[in-house]
Amino acid sequence: MKTSEDLRQLLERIDHRGYPAYKDTKGVYQFGKYVLSIDHVQGDPFAAPSKLSVRVPGRMSGFPKELFDKKHKRIALQDELIRNFYKQIQQYSFQAKGSGKSGIISVTRCSQEILERTACEINTGSGDVTVRFEVGFPANGRTINARELKKILYDFLPLCVEKALYYGRLDKKRIQKVMELSEDQEYIRGQLEERGLVAFVANGSVLPRESGVSQRPMKGAVPFITPKSMEVALDLPYKGKIQGMGIPRGVTLIVGGGYHGKSTLLKALETGVYPHIAGDGREYVVTDEKAVKIRAEDGRSIKHTDISMFINDLPNGKDTVAFDTEDASGSTSQAANVVESIEAGTTAFLIDEDTSATNFMVRDELMQRVIHRDMEPITPFIERVRDLYEKFGISTIIVAGSSGAYFQVADKIVQMDRYVPKEITEMAKTAAQDYPQLKLPQEGPKNPSFDRKVRSNPSLKNKGRIKIKTMGRDGVMLNHETIDLRYVEQLMDSEQLTTLGNIVKYLEEQMFDGRKTLGQAIEILYKKLDTQGLGAVCDGSYLPGNLAMPRKQEIYACLNRYRCLGTQK
Ligand code: ADP
Ligand code: MG
Repeated sequence: MKTSEDLRQLLERIDHRGYPAYKDTKGVYQFGKYVLSIDHVQGDPFAAPSKLSVRVPGRMSGFPKELFDKKHKRIALQDELIRNFYKQIQQYSFQAKGSGKSGIISVTRCSQEILERTACEINTGSGDVTVRFEVGFPANGRTINARELKKILYDFLPLCVEKALYYGRLDKKRIQKVMELSEDQEYIRGQLEERGLVAFVANGSVLPRESGVSQRPMKGAVPFITPKSMEVALDLPYKGKIQGMGIPRGVTLIVGGGYHGKSTLLKALETGVYPHIAGDGREYVVTDEKAVKIRAEDGRSIKHTDISMFINDLPNGKDTVAFDTEDASGSTSQAANVVESIEAGTTAFLIDEDTSATNFMVRDELMQRVIHRDMEPITPFIERVRDLYEKFGISTIIVAGSSGAYFQVADKIVQMDRYVPKEITEMAKTAAQDYPQLKLPQEGPKNPSFDRKVRSNPSLKNKGRIKIKTMGRDGVMLNHETIDLRYVEQLMDSEQLTTLGNIVKYLEEQMFDGRKTLGQAIEILYKKLDTQGLGAVCDGSYLPGNLAMPRKQEIYACLNRYRCLGTQK
């Protein structure tokens, strides 16, 4: 292996030359206590910065095995190390000078959620720690300024690596706490299953966020406190005894006046599919990891989806067993979201009336009297919600502040009263008795068919290499095709979208053969991701440091919104 000294000499040779001479630095160099790898060199100082990685061997980094011997612990420690590294390099970014992006040093900015990311990887066998980041190679105009790059590689980075990635240099108590929280969160997850719960919200949790643009906890918020009747006590392996609200499987209704905290509770449940960092306020809010937020999404495309359990006999005679549209309505989009989530293996729906299509959710008695069932293509969700639980095993948590219709079908009814939940099941059920009973359709929902075969889209492949571009948290582009993911609300991070872009590309290139169904292709891919990690969907010569793991449910959601999906019956 080449050494840091070789690199130093190379840099001296190319100093003051044209920018492309930087390309020669690509390679792997032994830097004393770690290995520096220059994976990709930018073409000019204004282009996206160069990709680098540092690998610290396990015997040097020195993290005890019990900090990363289980998957959830490893991911939590990796997340902590990215945050450490971020903090360190912040002090040095742009300290080396030059034109354009010269001198920038950057790494993933982690969100409140703890996600598996390529920015940091701990090898479970060797304990080697790899961190992937970017550096803007310095230049004046387009002339190499190697002296400034030497500052970064020989002065700044060794300090950052040492302070961020060596166990001996870190606050051991803090690292221990990261592991303990991860174990406690995993324990709660196990308890959901054991106790038949969809979600657990600990007393004292802070659910609201600081603002629409900050995911930090709101200061001075009313802390969460469970109604006595729904209290569940848990004995966590590290934190010990805690109490909170256990939401049982079945149909749960959250009601209450406007502005009393209903949507905030539901949002916390939506993100509870991921673990949260200490201090977030939602560290002990844990939701069934397969729960899916369902909402209306006018304008989305639908490909060969069987929405017949909700929609039938459309006036234009369109087939709803294999329904296609480029521009769905509120109700058809929400119906498709439900059915696609069933295919994606969800075990719970999370629904907020604020973001639902009313005609999909309910149809009141008077309307039923005037517009006869035969004239109405929609079987509203309220008429299916019980069967979805009893026949399909899928629970529903639904926020409904304006319609009492769901009282009749709910197992549990929770009222949010000035941000404090109260259980009002009996009172609400009694009140509902005076109202006309809900009439259910004669036939229950049939199992939707998921037999869409997928073939690759020739137009995408003809253009040569498929290029991926992520548009923040909103969507991802493959060549000129945009996949709109704004309303897939449980995607937390643009890095998950970048991964989804890679996944679609991989499926297009390797899996869509016209014989497999969409579900079969995704299941094979997902297994590969699960065993091989995020590298499984990357074909480049190096692993980029900007990928985060999405859930299987979001992989389905992404493919279902992909307008170029080549479906056939
Ligand atoms: P609803 O859906 O019932 O209309 P929201 O959940 O949207 O109400 O909450 C309304 C407002 O109250 C939001 O601005 C939210 O940030 C704030 N809020 C929610 N929960 C709390 C809480 N526990 N303490 C303080 N403010 C809260
Ligand atoms: Mg609301």
